[in-house]
Amino acid sequence: MSGWIAVAGLGPGSATLITPEVSAALARASDLVGYAPYVARVDPREDLVRHSSDNRVELDRAALALDLAARGRRVAIVSSGDPGVFAMAAALFEALEAGPASWRTLDIQILPGITAMLAASARAGAPLGHDFCAINLSDNLKPWSVIERRLRLAAAADFAMAFYNPRSRSRPDGFARTLAILRESCGPERPILFARAVTTPEEQLHVTTLGTARADMADMRTMVIVGSSQTRIIERPIGPILYTPRSIPA
Ligand code: SAH
Repeated sequence: MSGWIAVAGLGPGSATLITPEVSAALARASDLVGYAPYVARVDPREDLVRHSSDNRVELDRAALALDLAARGRRVAIVSSGDPGVFAMAAALFEALEAGPASWRTLDIQILPGITAMLAASARAGAPLGHDFCAINLSDNLKPWSVIERRLRLAAAADFAMAFYNPRSRSRPDGFARTLAILRESCGPERPILFARAVTTPEEQLHVTTLGTARADMADMRTMVIVGSSQTRIIERPIGPILYTPRSIPA
């Protein structure tokens, strides 16, 4: 019996946004590995062994999955959104690169999912309709100085910006500093979207400007998107549309 690993993206929350490819892999798996809230999103099955873990142990989790697959198990590693975006796919390859040569013959597949940035942007309109960048605002895995430099350069390049992990209890100040840098670089009129728990029953969308945005408008479940200089708000009675035109005048 030969083992395998599928690193599967569960999408932003709604079951309707899980791809058929991911559902098929979950149905064939013998073992489920992942951060506990993501493992909890997969329906239990008698012959499915669940290995839930804490958030900050990605490399241990990856090594566990590789070891299980090497022993012939069919392992699904689950991430929210897309597994290649600030998630388990890169952690798995870090463990693979550092591990025994025998792991390199394992069957490993990365199964994409709808990442939070795309789900949030679809709900708000089309803020990522022109060039954009994505930045993880957590300084768990990189120094704050790198984040600050990237913020300033992205603003100078006039990208729309999608921010993951804007704020958490362990990093209360970072997001206020982010907003201050953006206000200074982009001005107070620039549109900003706070999209919380998108595609779940707790979904909340809030479109405002950098001048009125406050750090407490974001939490761990929020995706923040800041427009480029071209991004526009269409006001409507049923809520605004935020979009970035596809072209820039010559
Ligand atoms: N791999 C995931 C991202 C993991 S980082 C993906 O591709 O989406 C976790 C961050 O993603 C959260 O802090 C939040 O900023 C964002 N996020 C994940 N799910 C979300 C959702 N349903 N709504 C809004 N933001 C979400």
